[in-house]
This record gives sequence, C-alpha cells and structure tokens, in this order.
Amino acid sequence: MGRVRFVDLPAQYRSIAAEIDDEIKSILTSARFIGGQPVRRFEESFADYQQVRFCVGVGNGTDALEIALDAVPIRCGGEIIVPANSFIASSEAVSRSGYRVVFADVNCQTYLMGREQAEAVLTEDTVAIMPVHLYGQPAPMEDLMALARERGIVVVEDAAQAHGAEYRQARVGGMGVVGTFSFYPGKNLGAYGDAGAIVTNDEELATRARMTANHGRSAKYHHRFEGRNSRMDSIQAAILSVKLRHLEDWTEHRRRIADRYLQGLADLDELTLPTVSSDVRHVYHLFVVRCPSRDRLRAWLSDRQIETGIHYPVALPDLEAYANSHPEAHTPVARRLAGEILSLPMNDQLSLSQVDFVTGAIREFFGKR
Ligand SMILES: *Cc1c(COP(=O)(O)O)cnc(C)c1O
Repeated sequence: MGRVRFVDLPAQYRSIAAEIDDEIKSILTSARFIGGQPVRRFEESFADYQQVRFCVGVGNGTDALEIALDAVPIRCGGEIIVPANSFIASSEAVSRSGYRVVFADVNCQTYLMGREQAEAVLTEDTVAIMPVHLYGQPAPMEDLMALARERGIVVVEDAAQAHGAEYRQARVGGMGVVGTFSFYPGKNLGAYGDAGAIVTNDEELATRARMTANHGRSAKYHHRFEGRNSRMDSIQAAILSVKLRHLEDWTEHRRRIADRYLQGLADLDELTLPTVSSDVRHVYHLFVVRCPSRDRLRAWLSDRQIETGIHYPVALPDLEAYANSHPEAHTPVARRLAGEILSLPMNDQLSLSQVDFVTGAIREFFGKR
C-alpha cells in the first residue's frame, strides 16, 4: 500500500500544477506582489463562496482573528469566551487584542463549545463569544446566537478549519458579527505559505478591518489611525483562486472518505466515531476518533506506515502558556479528550482503498476482521 499520508500537498499540487504554474508566472511577469487585482478577485470569489458581502484578505488566520477583534465595537478589556478544545491561535488573538480569555469546556459528543458550556462561564464582563468550528464541524450557532442576543454580546466565529461548512444551510463565518479563516497550507483551502481572511456582512467593520491590515491607511500616505501590516500576497491570492475552483470537489471527496470510515468502523465498541449533528454540513478538515488506548493504537498504525495526528494533545488551559494565568479554568471534558483523541488520515488526495487499508489496520488492532 505504501505510506498513507495524513496530508498530501505534493499530490494535490501535481493534480493542478498546470493551472497553478500559469497563475504564478503571470504574477511574476506583472511584478505586483502585494494586494492588487489578484487579491481583489480572490476576496470577491471567497465572499461569494462563503455567502457573505465582504471579505478582507490578510496575512494569516491568527492576524485575521486579531484584526477582526480590533474592528468589532466591543468594550476594551472585557472577557471573551473561547472553547478549551482549539488551537492556541484562538485564545492568543483574544489576549493580544487586549481582552481577557475565559475558557469554556466542550460538549462531550461533538467536542465543540455549545450554549451550555458558554453560559456556564459567562459573566457581567463578557463582551463576546468565540465559537470555533473545529475539525470542520459548525458549532451550534442558533443556540449561541440566541445566548449572545439575550446578553447583548457579540459572536466572533473562528472558521479557520471550516471552509464551506454549513449550519442549517448557512455557511459559517457570516452568522456572527464577523468570521475568520486561515489558508495555512494544510487547511481545506490552503495557500503555499501563510494567508487568512476576515468575512462579514457589516460594511463598516469590513472597511475598518481593511484599513487596520494596511497601516490604518485610507489612501497612500493618509493614515486615519495606527494599524499594522498584514496584507495578502498576490501570489497566495492567485493560488487560492485556482484552488477555490476545486474546493467543492475536494470537500465532497472528504465527505465520502468520512462516510467510508464511519461504515468501516461502526461496530467497534472501543472506538468512538465523530458525532455529526443532522443540521450541519461537516467539511472534515479532520476526522477525529476517540479511544482510551489512543497511544497504542497510534503506534500500531505508525508501524503500518499510516500517519495520524492529535488535535490537540493538550487542552488550552493546560498549556504552559496559561499555567499561571487561568487557575479558574475548569474544562474536564476537554482535558479528558486530549488524552484520547486521534486524527485519522484525511485529505483530498486520499483514495478509498487507502481508507479501507486504514480501516483494516484499526480493525486488526481491536482483534476484529
Ligand atoms: C489554523 C488555525 C488558526 C490560525 O491560522 P493561521 O493561519 O495558522 O494563523 C486559528 N484557529 C484555528 C482553530 C486554526 O485551526
């Protein structure tokens, strides 16, 4: 079978090399490397794709969160609720933007923060909730939006792993006041370097974010306020425009792979498969299973040349970075998950026979045929 790769960017490149090479060459010939028409064109098509009015391309997904938080009209220094099961960028952006992170636990079936978990840590000082559509599965937005409305706070969506994901037919990113995406190479839509985007239906917020990402600039050498430099490269934008044309096919392929795993592993009592709500379109950035003997299973698969990952091995409040700053954080579900979750190979180049090979190896581990 050969090695089963967790992600396979070389194979993906081979499948679209002619289109990509043409686009890169045209940028090199024009020598316009930052902003310009390739970035505008990508922003417009990505806004269409996510069904929002505005998209602002920025340097990466972490900057997208920071700039989005900066552009949202909320009280400085307030608390923002972040799920304990996420990548550090979610909480890092909150602290860097001058807010206080409050960690919420996650649902024990979806591994996402829902209303119950957010409400448990909500205080008078809460100014925003940051649902993370982790692994490509939308958080329960209707409940979270209702909670936010009742308490007069805003919702900022971290959609870094959820390009094209839908909650009740609505694409993620446009339900809260603002949403952010990452185009880190390994994401479902990935650049050949760093890139990110902010999406919103609020024109004023979009304008503010665009200016912030370009030194607070309104026109050349006219700076309305101090911003920062986080612009999207033209080469990355051109690459993303090519890949966006393939994204629906790739996403449908990911969903077929997920179905195949779900069928092939359904009867294993020792393995917990992803729980997917019936009202969402999960885009399977990751396919995460849970098993008490996770480390042994991982070694078993590694011995058979099957690459796996752990997302994430340490719950955010348990990271060294938060060792002394969040003693109040109580997130037992996230902590327990960290020791049991395993991400199986999942990417747009994986064949169904490779999936069957992985499934067979897992069945063998549990002594099943
Ligand atoms: C990847 C990721 C980010 C950060 O994106 P970068 O482009 O790497 O800065 C933020 N949040 C989540 C959940 C992510 O997976």
